[in-house]
Amino acid sequence: MKLYFNLLTLFFTVAFYSCSNKTVNQSFHLPKVSAIDEKEEVFLQKKILINEMMDASKILHQISWPILIENKDICNNKDSYSLGILFATEKDLPERDSAFFRLLFNENINTYYLKKFNAMSFPIVISVAKNSPAYKAKLNENDVILEINEQNVSNFRKKLKESLAQSSITHFTILRNDKIIKKSIQGIKACNYNVQAIPAPSPNAFADGEKVFVTLAAIKLARTEDELAFLIGHELAHNIYHYNYKKGSEANSLAINYLDMPKLKNLNSFFLFSTQSKETEADLKGVEIAFKAGYALENVNDYWRRLSVFNPSLISSSS
Ligand SMILES: [Zn+2]
Repeated sequence: MKLYFNLLTLFFTVAFYSCSNKTVNQSFHLPKVSAIDEKEEVFLQKKILINEMMDASKILHQISWPILIENKDICNNKDSYSLGILFATEKDLPERDSAFFRLLFNENINTYYLKKFNAMSFPIVISVAKNSPAYKAKLNENDVILEINEQNVSNFRKKLKESLAQSSITHFTILRNDKIIKKSIQGIKACNYNVQAIPAPSPNAFADGEKVFVTLAAIKLARTEDELAFLIGHELAHNIYHYNYKKGSEANSLAINYLDMPKLKNLNSFFLFSTQSKETEADLKGVEIAFKAGYALENVNDYWRRLSVFNPSLISSSS
């Protein structure tokens, strides 16, 4: 029986290993793959990844906006203004993907504008949060940003961050349907924690003091917006009550960056104080945080239970 069990374990280990690691078995002849085919395949996979990140970021952006607004009174990082916009810029991707950004997001832009506005590529609007200042100013998804405060878009996020910190109004020059439009958006105060998607196969969420990360798996597992609101509320509670992070900015919200991660330095300190009582506090305060933004929390326990399927350690720790 024991031998049988061991053999079974070995079988599963080998089966799992051969699926999850693409090791080359020398006894098989693999079909020859040209460098062009390989490049094409990488492109196709990356396109899926970036589209998944973009879709997940839009979902998180729409859910988290009212939460960040309605809880500004308990946040200690609400000094800079928020507009309710999620951007994608070339620098959000690794340098090797620069051409890729242009292909995915700037392909239909006449190169004449690059010269005219002295830019290598233009940021685009990925999401406009419902009822946000940007929404009221009629900014649209896919609007192309040609200028920020009459300046070119190099170091766009730095310029945006400075603008949101210094003034309630940010000016954008926008390209939409080959027409140039000017928009001046009056920002409002909100919690400035960034809620981002992170590619990971296990449904989970993390807080590092500055940002909240929700895994793509957790987003796919959720059946309602309420479930994700509860998860975001829990992580925000960690950021608000268990950290002392002050210098937040909406400009740091990254929609397509698939490499951004919880900051390890912060995470370490998080593990140090992560105790059952802090978890219980985050659960209770998290419910309050999501409830204040209008989310219905009657059925979210089921989400927590479904999460436990993938994180059995939660079964004992989340009562
Ligand atoms: Zn927690």
